[in-house]
Amino acid sequence: MSDFHIQLEDGTGFTCGAHDTLTRAGLRAGLAMPYECNAGGCGTCRYELLSGDVEDRYPDAPALTERDRRKGRRLGCQSVPRSDLRVRINVEACAAATPVPRRLHATLTGTSDITHDIREFRFRLDEPAPFLPGQYALLEIPGVDRPRAYSMSNIADVANVADGSGEWHFQIRRVPQGRATTALFERAEPGMQLVIDGPYGNAFLREDVARDIVCVAGGSGLSPMLSIARGMAASGALAQRRLRFVMGGRTPADIGGEEQLRALAGFGANITFHPAISMPEPHSRWTGAVGFAHDIALAEAGERPADHEWYFAGPPPMVMAVESSLRNAGVPQQQLHFDRYF
Ligand SMILES: Cc1cc2nc3c(=O)[nH]c(=O)nc-3n(C[C@H](O)[C@H](O)[C@H](O)COP(=O)(O)OP(=O)(O)OC[C@H]3O[C@@H](n4cnc5c(N)ncnc54)[C@H](O)[C@@H]3O)c2cc1C
Repeated sequence: MSDFHIQLEDGTGFTCGAHDTLTRAGLRAGLAMPYECNAGGCGTCRYELLSGDVEDRYPDAPALTERDRRKGRRLGCQSVPRSDLRVRINVEACAAATPVPRRLHATLTGTSDITHDIREFRFRLDEPAPFLPGQYALLEIPGVDRPRAYSMSNIADVANVADGSGEWHFQIRRVPQGRATTALFERAEPGMQLVIDGPYGNAFLREDVARDIVCVAGGSGLSPMLSIARGMAASGALAQRRLRFVMGGRTPADIGGEEQLRALAGFGANITFHPAISMPEPHSRWTGAVGFAHDIALAEAGERPADHEWYFAGPPPMVMAVESSLRNAGVPQQQLHFDRYF
């Protein structure tokens, strides 16, 4: 099948491969396509089809309301063209993707367990490719119908990239009955090959912003928060700034990340770790904080939360709780950087 031409209302256009989605092809072409999750969960990539045919990869996507469907709105991240198209997409409010995402072949080099249900999967890409701390990629897992989004936990080591051995690491939480996570936890062995499409995401580290940082990780949100912390440590910026890392879970078994943070220069001084659990067991020997991650994070930031740059990732209810408590505390929206894991 050949490529198709996608025409926007302002006269610009781009080419979309017969197996690519509108959102990702537009980003690959350098356009500022609106998107967030790439998984049918957020609705940021909604658009109107003016003419042509598309295949909808996720017809029941939770991001589309009945009203959206009645009005003919669709999701760019789930739309694969079947002809040339004319579309109405609002590309004004967002920035073009950096670095430009690509589909690359990758080989699993190893795994290690981080908690009872989070495992790190390390992939070597066939071609070196950069990403920013905090970004994510889509993994096309053999035997799983559609790609799944996972955030990188490492940083794109420039030396590594230069010699072609650049690795992308992912920390993935096993979801009971989840199709992708069951495939990875039960069948992924070193040597396994798959396609990684990325990088994506706007919740990346802003190295040049001279504020202290708070990272808040819920469950598998640990992965991009470790990448942010590693990026800060590698940049040398922690000589002048502090990074507080809050990891929230239900029980002590859900808490991870301290070992990886301890390996960073500045741990214990400019980098501090604040584990918090919401369901303490009676008579447990837990000595960390008890409460929800957003409350603990605000308490750790002290009296002036708006003096901090905030990064957070995890399940949508946790992300919503962090966002609303920070907004109530007067932190400007442009200091909030987050991904919701639909
Ligand atoms: C930006 C982002 C970053 C993420 N980063 C991480 C991470 O670092 N670590 C981590 O553990 N998890 C992460 N997730 C969650 C991850 O992508 C998966 O949702 C999770 O692993 C469960 O996948 P599963 O296939 O095992 O479960 P399933 O229940 O089988 O599928 C879960 C998800 O797959 C998608 N889906 C389901 N059906 C369809 C369909 N028919 N068509 C298209 N899509 C469908 C939906 O988004 C659904 O929520 C992230 C999610 C997003 C959006």
